[in-house]
Amino acid sequence: MQISEDSIRIQSINQWLPHKSKPLIISGPCSAENREQVLATAKRLYATGVASAFRSGLWKPRTRPGAFEGHGENALHWLVEVKEKYGFPLVVEVATPRHIEACLKAGIDIFWIGARTSVNPFSVQELAEALKGVDVPVMVKNPLNPDLSLWVGVIERFILSGITKIAAIHRGFNTWEKSRFRNDPLWDIPVKLKSIFPKLPILCDPSHIAGRRDLLLEVAQKALLLDMEGFMIETHFDPDNALTDAAQQITPEKLQELVSKLNIPVHSEDNPCRDIDHLRNKIDDLDSSLVTILSKRMEMVKEIAKIKKDCKMTVLQINRWNSIVEARTEEAMKLGLNENFVRNMLDLIHKESIDVQSKIIS
Ligand code: PEP
Ligand code: MN
Repeated sequence: MQISEDSIRIQSINQWLPHKSKPLIISGPCSAENREQVLATAKRLYATGVASAFRSGLWKPRTRPGAFEGHGENALHWLVEVKEKYGFPLVVEVATPRHIEACLKAGIDIFWIGARTSVNPFSVQELAEALKGVDVPVMVKNPLNPDLSLWVGVIERFILSGITKIAAIHRGFNTWEKSRFRNDPLWDIPVKLKSIFPKLPILCDPSHIAGRRDLLLEVAQKALLLDMEGFMIETHFDPDNALTDAAQQITPEKLQELVSKLNIPVHSEDNPCRDIDHLRNKIDDLDSSLVTILSKRMEMVKEIAKIKKDCKMTVLQINRWNSIVEARTEEAMKLGLNENFVRNMLDLIHKESIDVQSKIIS
């Protein structure tokens, strides 16, 4: 597949969604509930001056039937009024070719693909085909489950359809593990996405990650430190009485307050600060020693495997391993390292060691 060549044509987000100040903010209610709610939220958002585009859900994918599912096409003209009054480009979730058609007719500027749609390659392919030859920007939320390839696949389908104005939105993942968040951020997944598509703009959706107002700032700050371009974040003129996602929505004024509290870093290529070069050289030397030590360790593992084979010993010697983990973790913690980090690193080494030994023995 020529996807990596095609992905080179991905445009920088400033070319299609110009924003004067960093971070880029797309904001507005989770769903368009009525004309008053949409217009009052937009008016107050406009007054804050922090947002560059207005979002709203019109077709709401709900877990159970009977909940408020949005006003669909009937709400489009409220958004059009927002654009006429305040000049915001409009951003709407589309899940079917019919949604696309209605939005294009109404003049919606940017589409986003929701997390419940990006899990389904059939739906995504239909949407990508409906957008062939249409020069409209598309933002792709991560699928519900923590599957990087699935997310990459959605982006590839749009790129192959000729879309070059494309961005990803990180909104967290459904996991079995209990977490403080509504959707576990699993930050390493968007970081890996960035290494696959270095030119792809990535936004963060702190609202759906956090699920509650008091965690928004923490999530938003982390996203900026990971070099994300900005946020899609939900605002509502009366969050407590929102029909959807009430616990995570904030007023436009609270959004302005949140932005003022952020420490806003500058992308390294635009940042003239060079004081870190000599430290980076030292880190390179240390990393190189780490790799050398790991390779020496693996040579020992291979020697041990031969002996285990001759003596018909099992590869897994759990008591020996547990004592290694305890001793090294205690030592590492005394040196100020994080316990979880050390345990995870040792687990990785152990897994590789078992694989290498098993290969030698069988
Ligand atoms: C939303 O942004 O309102 C939404 C439904 O998001 P997600 O698809 O991330 O759940
Ligand atoms: Mn929502």
